[in-house]
Amino acid sequence: MTTLIESEEHKALREAVAAFANNHPRTPGTDNRPFWQEAAKLGYIGVNLPEAYGGGGGGIAELSLVLEEMGAAGNPLLMMIVSPAICGTVISRFGTEAQKREWLPALADGSRLMAFGITEPDAGSNSHRITTTARRDGADWLLTGRKVFVSGVDIADATLVVGRTEDARTGKLKPCLFIVPRDAEGFQRRPIDMELNAVEKQFELVLDDVRLPADALVGDEDAGLLQLFAGLNPERVMTAAFAIGMGRHALARAVEYARERTVWNAPIGSHQAIAHPLAQAHIDLELARLMTQKAAHLYDAGDDTGAGEAANMAKYAAAEACVKAVDQAVHTLGGNGLTREYGLASLITAARVSRIAPVSREMILNYVSHQTLGLPKSY
Ligand SMILES: Cc1cc2nc3c(=O)[nH]c(=O)nc-3n(C[C@H](O)[C@H](O)[C@H](O)COP(=O)(O)OP(=O)(O)OC[C@H]3O[C@@H](n4cnc5c(N)ncnc54)[C@H](O)[C@@H]3O)c2cc1C
Repeated sequence: MTTLIESEEHKALREAVAAFANNHPRTPGTDNRPFWQEAAKLGYIGVNLPEAYGGGGGGIAELSLVLEEMGAAGNPLLMMIVSPAICGTVISRFGTEAQKREWLPALADGSRLMAFGITEPDAGSNSHRITTTARRDGADWLLTGRKVFVSGVDIADATLVVGRTEDARTGKLKPCLFIVPRDAEGFQRRPIDMELNAVEKQFELVLDDVRLPADALVGDEDAGLLQLFAGLNPERVMTAAFAIGMGRHALARAVEYARERTVWNAPIGSHQAIAHPLAQAHIDLELARLMTQKAAHLYDAGDDTGAGEAANMAKYAAAEACVKAVDQAVHTLGGNGLTREYGLASLITAARVSRIAPVSREMILNYVSHQTLGLPKSY
């Protein structure tokens, strides 16, 4: 890649993260908190957070590059999509001085982690339908509702919960964001039994009149979607980076295998039926990465609208490239593709996550149909 697209600084960061992550292979089933904390000490987790609050002063471009390289090394930190990218960004951009001082240095140095909950069982992809409601009680807030599929609530010190205020219960969504501590009274979580070989669990949450102080509200209660998308666009860019990293990891394993494995008189990689789909997977991942870099660049430059479209497209392209790369990688290994030893089979389900979350393939196609192409809506 030329310097036009990636600076020398970014290349150096990539190399450093790759070397670090390759030295920390993932051991299935073990806690990845020590890896998180080491990465934080090296400045990788908070690279996007403001320097004044202990961060690296970079942006989503740097943070997404870190996550991609960790994924390419086979050890991605899923919670990077949430803690520094969504929560860190929203607090940096809209938090009070006290909230910034309380959370940002801790998110950057790895001592604290924050989860993010928007998905609801009865709203799903239609976040305008969320019903988690905040009502005032004196100076406090009382938050009631349900969330589903929220990642890492058990390891996070708090969850940034998207709700709406009582008087905004109907009509267009005017979201408001609350920091809910893990041990708040009335805040219950139940792990969902997912078919995913990951350390980060997903939870169903019940908030039953959770009492929160006035300063649990991040940003303005009327600021609406702008505040929310300040966090959701980085989430999409980070999910794209997560998918590209995973795709690169799977592809590299397959290429390594195809170079060596010989069942006739030449390595299987010499057969074009094996080589071409791997080459296509590489091209698709590279293209997805270009779009991801564009989205990150627009976001970091403050173009929220441009970043919205690019982040959606990048997430779409990366998820599709990842699913195809993993599928072809598994196929390349024949029977070994399905053994635990080679570690690729579990990526079949893991790769699908980026096609569904945080916004599904179809919802991105809807967005591009309506927003970019100006086609009418079916819903
Ligand atoms: C591993 C994992 C981790 C997650 N982590 C988090 C988290 O940390 N925090 C959080 O808040 N959420 C999280 N989620 C939730 C995720 O964001 C949702 O699963 C996603 O937004 C889709 O919502 P849904 O599952 O309710 O699907 P639904 O909205 O029910 O959609 C089901 C299917 O219908 C399609 N569909 C829906 N509407 C339309 C339409 N108008 N046109 C065409 N097709 C349509 C969808 O594309 C999808 O294929 C996570 C999910 C997973 C799988």
